[in-house]
Amino acid sequence: MVVPGADEDAFTMAIAAAEQLFETSAEREAIEHVALASTTPLLDEGLFAPRLGRALGLGRNVETSEHTGSTLAGAEALSRAIDADGSALVVISDCPAGDPADGWGAGAVAFLVADDAAVGVPERAWHTDEYPGLRYRERGSEEVKSIGVTTYERDAIRECVAGAAAGIDDIERVAHAALHQPDARMPSRIAGDLPIDDEAIERGTVVDRVGDAGAATVFLGLARALGGADANDRTLVGAFGSGGAGAAFVLDGGLDTAGLADGEIPSGERISYTNALRKRGVLDEEEVAGGGARVSLPTWRESLGQRYRLRAGRCPDCETVAFPPEGACPNCGSRAAFEPYDLPNVGIVKARTVVGQGGAPPEFAAQQRRDGAYGVVVVGFEEIDATLPAQLTDCDPESVAIGDKLRAVVRRIYEQEGIARYGVKFVPTE
Ligand SMILES: [Zn+2]
Repeated sequence: MVVPGADEDAFTMAIAAAEQLFETSAEREAIEHVALASTTPLLDEGLFAPRLGRALGLGRNVETSEHTGSTLAGAEALSRAIDADGSALVVISDCPAGDPADGWGAGAVAFLVADDAAVGVPERAWHTDEYPGLRYRERGSEEVKSIGVTTYERDAIRECVAGAAAGIDDIERVAHAALHQPDARMPSRIAGDLPIDDEAIERGTVVDRVGDAGAATVFLGLARALGGADANDRTLVGAFGSGGAGAAFVLDGGLDTAGLADGEIPSGERISYTNALRKRGVLDEEEVAGGGARVSLPTWRESLGQRYRLRAGRCPDCETVAFPPEGACPNCGSRAAFEPYDLPNVGIVKARTVVGQGGAPPEFAAQQRRDGAYGVVVVGFEEIDATLPAQLTDCDPESVAIGDKLRAVVRRIYEQEGIARYGVKFVPTE
């Protein structure tokens, strides 16, 4: 099963999936709508999409929609994006809290929905009926519950998903199927009433590898299925939301989807069970007080460009790049306003240190209890004088040497007043 790192959550995974999409295909300037789905949003109340828009550098005029409350959230986001005017970015990102031994996983997937797409969505159908008591979370609680009556649960899922799929024409033409998959057996139980064979289901199943990633699982399965589909294939998505709703989509065609075909899901790093619990915060939820790096939220907000996108400033007089873009030019002393200049997302290690147990300032103490010693680097860039200090993540800091190349990623820095703050950290490029 997949465990997100101590500094990862639905937001950082959403950024990572969308950035991967922008690397391969989508133009971020063309995005007119962002549809975001998660059963684990950052706050019970408070939007999440505006943060994603800033972190991805999207236009300020994008329309946003957020979908949460059940594992149907991804289907709702896709449906909303299909109905939106212009190009829409769909990001489904989830990391249900809980014991990894219970099969909980994590994952994020990003799609671009556009008029000229290689894959069409000719049909959608829904089925709703009340089924209380399945996979619910009480207000203010992180614990997902169920009344635990297995036959009731199976019947509900089968009725809703197969009921929605029954609204699709020519269902027998489906060659691949990504069906609601809280576990590896559920998809074939759902398909029991449908003319869909085991191989078709297998091509759309990832839960045995990534775990139950909430609203994201079925769409990770879809991405895997589309990667194996050709232009004439039809793929079925069957999503389920507790409370009692199913959604079915048929997609025509195939896509290049990196990383999800057989044997391609990264095996990552094996960690112990205790370590997995610690990273998820199951063993440690202590509140952190104070901290040397404490910055008020309004001040923090002023520097979002630096924190998310390494926005530096270029001196209009001598072209020296300064980071942060504040004060006078470090080269010529000019006080003329800096021109915005985004540093590259790959840098070079100029200096490195490791902050051991007990050495962390209070705002990083909780992260250190979860993740152990962490590395701090001074990062420089080719042909640019600017340097910046940042944390290392996703690596053994002792293995990083001066001169190594590092890639910028957005991760959770710390939390204050119950609000998580994010910024750039660096990972080795290998
Ligand atoms: Zn200058």
